[in-house]
Amino acid sequence: MSSSPKGSSENRPTPTIEDYLAIMYVMERDGEEVIAARLAESLEVAPPTVTVTLKRMERDGWIAVDPKKGIYLTKSGCEAASSVIRRHMLTEWMLARMLKVPWSRVHAEADQLEHSISDEIEDQMRTNLDDPQTCPHGNPLPGYEHVAADWLPLTDIPAGEKVIIRRIHETAEDNPQLMQFLETNGMVPGTAADVTEVLAFNQTISLKVGKKNVTVGFPAGKYIFVEKLV
Ligand SMILES: [Zn+2]
Repeated sequence: MSSSPKGSSENRPTPTIEDYLAIMYVMERDGEEVIAARLAESLEVAPPTVTVTLKRMERDGWIAVDPKKGIYLTKSGCEAASSVIRRHMLTEWMLARMLKVPWSRVHAEADQLEHSISDEIEDQMRTNLDDPQTCPHGNPLPGYEHVAADWLPLTDIPAGEKVIIRRIHETAEDNPQLMQFLETNGMVPGTAADVTEVLAFNQTISLKVGKKNVTVGFPAGKYIFVEKLV
């Protein structure tokens, strides 16, 4: 047996802490303030539980709390978060490509599997899956954020524009009904669409996706990122 290098599977936080770290990484990446209330909502746990867990994470050096900056990931916290997000996204690809799990379901399945994948298997997955830069939903792997930099939320697109759907934000991936709606209507990364009507008073955006007319509300639209076709 070889000795374990730094950052190996053996030094990982527990699955619960990995889930916290992954959500915090996404919040920081998006420029959102990491607050306990939002963590409680995303993780579907009681706020007092979040408070206790955050204390433990601070003690173990995954996060730090600054009176001005609030809660933020330390260097090791950021590395651990990147690792679990990478494992999650590679697992999604594996489930989609090799096991043909429907696009709308790979996220939930990967949530269960991601914690038990070793660094060695992660490397093999990455090679075998041709080193993807995004997950099947278009969200960038840590370190590839630039890939998604120019994609705009659908709520920023006026009527009359042609777009390509590129990305469904991680927050939406946690909503199985929304994911199924998007899949049923062909609104998956790589699909072209015409924005036909935007009704601000009604908070709706209508699109033509292939032969289908699809209407989404602003709350879902802000999680759908597109590339404008000029
Ligand atoms: Zn995904």
